[in-house]
Amino acid sequence: MRVICIECGALGRINKTNRLSDNVAHLYCQCTDAECGYRWVSTLAYSRPLNPSRRSVGDAVLAVLGLSSEQRAILASTLNEQLAGEQKTDLNDKNKPIYQRR
Ligand SMILES: [Zn+2]
Repeated sequence: MRVICIECGALGRINKTNRLSDNVAHLYCQCTDAECGYRWVSTLAYSRPLNPSRRSVGDAVLAVLGLSSEQRAILASTLNEQLAGEQKTDLNDKNKPIYQRR
């Protein structure tokens, strides 16, 4: 991971990571330009997944394989209802502003 000094634009070095939670950490950084010497703290936070973990997908598939045909039918029905609900929500979200200035 690269950090850039906001004072001079040179590459920064992460000297210490202070984990605040599973998803958030403070990075103690220092500019590598000796003439600048700027030091700062950046916050690193988990944002969102881009691709599901193969491990969790694999576990889910194994769990589904262990279900009876009746349980699979109930699961399919539940997932279809949930998917229909999400599609309705997506349509409503298109009309909402992404960012609203106060
Ligand atoms: Zn710098």
